Amino acid sequence: MSNQKLVIVTGGARGIGAATAKLFAKHGYAVCINYKSNTVAANNVVKEIKSLGGNCISQKADVSNEEEVLRLFNNVDRELGKVSVLVNNAGILKQQSRLEKMSADRINLILNNNVTSYFLCCREAVKRMSTEHQGSGGVIINVSSAAARSGAPNEYVDYAASKGAIDTLTKGLSLEVAGEGIRVNGVRPGFIYTDMHADGGEPERIARLKSKIPMGRDGMPKEVAEAIYWLASEKSSFSTGSFLDLAGGL
Ligand code: NAP
Repeated sequence: MSNQKLVIVTGGARGIGAATAKLFAKHGYAVCINYKSNTVAANNVVKEIKSLGGNCISQKADVSNEEEVLRLFNNVDRELGKVSVLVNNAGILKQQSRLEKMSADRINLILNNNVTSYFLCCREAVKRMSTEHQGSGGVIINVSSAAARSGAPNEYVDYAASKGAIDTLTKGLSLEVAGEGIRVNGVRPGFIYTDMHADGGEPERIARLKSKIPMGRDGMPKEVAEAIYWLASEKSSFSTGSFLDLAGGL
């Protein structure tokens, strides 16, 4: 196994995750992109990275499922080596709705997909990175959302609350492992141009809200990827438990 640095990007086949995977590959990382079901999108990212000489695999796994997370990390151990960076990015939105119309099934689906998944992947990464477990350290970046601050009223309070939980996870875990060679930071994007808004029921949501964004435009996945990469790099070596807001001033 080589000494090449290795990143796992959950939800790395589309949107912010795909931009992040490509950026890490450009900086010489071996990359594992994880995804839930869109194999075509995953294959395209792998193909693009490999065509530029990068080292990349894809792993289909639902990261809200504990067994699948274990399989994902074990496969990466075997196929690529020791994980140095985890980007927890996989997330979902459901149709825009006020809270009084939300079912328990929907709320639990959002919490499982957006919160349990991050906890499980953090757990597996810490087991491999922590100096307490004979690891040599590492970095975890959790992708939260500006919605954690806004609450996303009338649209998706469930989603916003799931991201609030991620901010608390980031803070708490960063303090648990600060003395074990692991830094844990978060990014809070908002209004980024991806397919996710269509999943929330309004593909043109950003166009509708653009005028309310102080910078007057939406953000691109690459702009979030650059922040994630900086937080993973030695340039942010004294940052842990902190957050970068990437929402054009909101
Ligand atoms: P996206 O374009 O919808 O892509 C989501 C990715 O996550 C896909 O690769 C999807 O896989 C994967 N995924 C979803 N659930 C999964 C699961 N249970 N297991 C494994 N993979 C799963 O989303 P995005 O806009 O790039 O968002 C990425 C992250 O940024 C999310 O955490 C989101 O909450 C956050 N964010 C986005 C925005 C924005 O404006 N776009 C703003 C704030 C925060 P499949 O394609 O196979 O389903």
